[in-house]
Amino acid sequence: MTRPAVPVSAQLFDRASAVIPGGVNSPVRAFASVGGTPRFIASARGCTLTDADGNEYVDLVCSWGPMILGHAHPAVVDAVRAAATGGLSFGAPTEAEIELAEAIAERVEPVQRVRLVNSGTEATMSAVRLARGYTGRAKIVKFAGCYHGHVDALLADAGSGVATLGLPTSPGVTGAQAADTLVLPYNDLDAVAAAFAAHPGEIACVITEAAAGNMGAVAPLPGFNAGLRALTEANGALLVMDEVMTGFRVSRSGWFGREGVAGDLYTFGKVMSGGLPAAAFGGRAEIMNQLAPLGPVYQAGTLSGNPVAVAAGLATLRAADDAVYAALDRNAERLGSLFTEALSAAGVEHQVQFAGNMVSVFFADRPVTDYAAAKASQTWRFPAFFHALLEAGVYAPPSAFEAWFVSAALDEDAFDRIAAALPAAASAAAAATPEGSRA
Ligand SMILES: *Cc1c(COP(=O)(O)O)cnc(C)c1O
Repeated sequence: MTRPAVPVSAQLFDRASAVIPGGVNSPVRAFASVGGTPRFIASARGCTLTDADGNEYVDLVCSWGPMILGHAHPAVVDAVRAAATGGLSFGAPTEAEIELAEAIAERVEPVQRVRLVNSGTEATMSAVRLARGYTGRAKIVKFAGCYHGHVDALLADAGSGVATLGLPTSPGVTGAQAADTLVLPYNDLDAVAAAFAAHPGEIACVITEAAAGNMGAVAPLPGFNAGLRALTEANGALLVMDEVMTGFRVSRSGWFGREGVAGDLYTFGKVMSGGLPAAAFGGRAEIMNQLAPLGPVYQAGTLSGNPVAVAAGLATLRAADDAVYAALDRNAERLGSLFTEALSAAGVEHQVQFAGNMVSVFFADRPVTDYAAAKASQTWRFPAFFHALLEAGVYAPPSAFEAWFVSAALDEDAFDRIAAALPAAASAAAAATPEGSRA
């Protein structure tokens, strides 16, 4: 297949590759698993991305989740501009940090105390340290295909870019760092019960994506999260709900708002900082108060609670009203229906899966409920599907192992464009062969 010319992006990618490893600052952006030239983005507004060659795309990645309101939302941009005018960083507390922490705690009832950090990675790293410090135990349980940022102890069998690049684990993570991590199959409560039985009194926490989105959208089976709640409680371990992706996206109160299963600790990122770098972790006061300066578990950050990032987050949460969440759900349903229609017409075996309003397409003959099934799907059909959409002006996640993210800004024009692009993309997926996936 010949790819359309994007000379400016191609030239920028060459220049980037000479100074930035792989030409990108986060691996999935490099298009490594789909081939072709990554689009360098010049600007974005509403539901549209514009690349450096002047091509426009309907954005179904939304910066991997944060941009629920669409790009350059006036209320968020105004808040950022006002905050920046007042000074960029103080290294001292501000009132806005309290407001953001209050907004998070008010939305997610089990969260009584919140600490702001700079990335989801930092949030999960800190939550795991706190769980270990609080329980005095070393081992942690994570699930294959779940991604919790690039924390050493959490990289084993991780989703997201680790899955996209097919890495079982990462060099540079020592045996000692990984030795206390037990990796279990997602949606398998028996495996969790067996781990607790095999390691009595040793497991500090179970960390899980509240609903998995980093191996594609794989919702917890009914009773899975509640079972984790019961097993952790019975065994004196903490339940860490990673809501970095789901938080404030899949409902006003994240996945907790949909399911109501309370974790002991929570991690947030993405939506809560409106596209600027900030994240958070929080939970029960009794646990969170073990953090310095109140307690002995150390955690800190020069730019934590940065006023500009906090302003973007607060403005985003304030603008995310019931109408926005209704639009996100509606848009995800509509996208899913368009997938089903086009792929069925093309005769391709597929599963359209939802985790709240996160959507995925798996080329598989039965529902995908864990990482083994996600990996066993016909991922080689994905590059052809992806590139046909891209060429028709629809920007999908460049990996078979990622969720697709809608915004509330998707309009009729955007859906017309998606509907027009899908039949050819579905035919391309149908015609793909395992050998031809990188043509
Ligand atoms: C994105 C993500 C992270 C990591 O957040 P970064 O800000 O990229 O470090 C952690 N957990 C989940 C569930 C995520 O989706």
